[in-house]
Amino acid sequence: MNKERIYLDHNATTPLLAEARSATMQALELPGNPSSVHEEGRAARAVVEKARRQVAQLVNADPAGVVFTSGATEAAATVLTPHFKMGKADLTVGQLLIGAADHPCILAGGRFDPRQVTRIDVDHNGQIHLQALEGALAGQDEASRPAMVCLMLANNETGIVQEMGLASDIVKRHGGILVVDAVQAAGRIPVDLKALGADFVILSSHKIGGPKGAGALVCGSEILRPVPLVPGGGQEKGHRSGTENPAAIAGFGAAAEHVTARLADDPERIAELRDRLEFGILKKCADCLIYGAEAERLPNTVFFAIPGMKAETAQIAFDLAGIAVSAGSACSSGKVGPSHVLAAMGFDAEQGGIRVSLGPETSTGDIEAFLSAFEGIVSNRIAAS
Ligand code: PLP
Repeated sequence: MNKERIYLDHNATTPLLAEARSATMQALELPGNPSSVHEEGRAARAVVEKARRQVAQLVNADPAGVVFTSGATEAAATVLTPHFKMGKADLTVGQLLIGAADHPCILAGGRFDPRQVTRIDVDHNGQIHLQALEGALAGQDEASRPAMVCLMLANNETGIVQEMGLASDIVKRHGGILVVDAVQAAGRIPVDLKALGADFVILSSHKIGGPKGAGALVCGSEILRPVPLVPGGGQEKGHRSGTENPAAIAGFGAAAEHVTARLADDPERIAELRDRLEFGILKKCADCLIYGAEAERLPNTVFFAIPGMKAETAQIAFDLAGIAVSAGSACSSGKVGPSHVLAAMGFDAEQGGIRVSLGPETSTGDIEAFLSAFEGIVSNRIAAS
């Protein structure tokens, strides 16, 4: 990466870690297909299986539960389905409940008919309305059972961490299936599939410093599995066909191992930088609004609005000052629309917000550089008004 630029957009993607790069490059050299039984094939298989153990450890799961996919979006499209196998028997899931502030790949509802999908509201602090969740589950008719509930552990825009324990208890009490989107939480705070009571966890390689184009659906049991989204040659024990990409998977595994080892120190160090950043923002602009300030948030994320200035305008100004931040979430078209997350939390979605997301390499100097650019940008606002 260009050394002169300051990258503060880790929730969009986290630059490749050195460990991930090296594992990826080594695996790229392997000539074999992981499904081949000869020596070359076995060498590629060994790389994939090592990564499976590394990814499982990141979320305290059994390696046999890890199904590699092309990313979290594919993992979501795989698991959000009415069609499951429970051992050899068919199981039909009757409805899908999702959080109103969830990522678009969850809001899309996977293979459910849109009429089977219900959004559960969140409050001003981004927390799921537990009463609404309980009410939706209690009010189910027989055809709707079992229900699937998919919630995000940490929000990609605000960084707000869901109080998952309470939601999980409710889902279990009603015999539901719990899917946790841990894409932003993984590697930033501890994620434990078993402690969460999750049946499935969704992960993405590029949010933890692995290469783009790899992810995983982590299954809590060997028995309950979605009918594959990608049928074919039966790779990944039949759960996701298509030749695995050992290079991307190896990088994902190496990144998972690295961030797991750093969980003891990194969150605290990054939270200190984040607090310094927030303090600086409010000192230079007392009327700035920090979304979710009262809620538990990821240590690396600040999402804030500068009253009287459009988030896109501020984002462009930061970019010109050599600092990469985002105006809301990354979106494929490059355009920024009103934030559905802010709308769901009852804020002015048009006002939007500037998302600053720190990473393992972020330094105090980066924060100071951000604050000095910020001072100039805010004074322009005052001059223009
Ligand atoms: N879930 C959340 C919370 C995300 O932030 C993202 C990516 O922004 C995804 C899912 C999708 O991940 P991927 O890019 O691997 O498809």
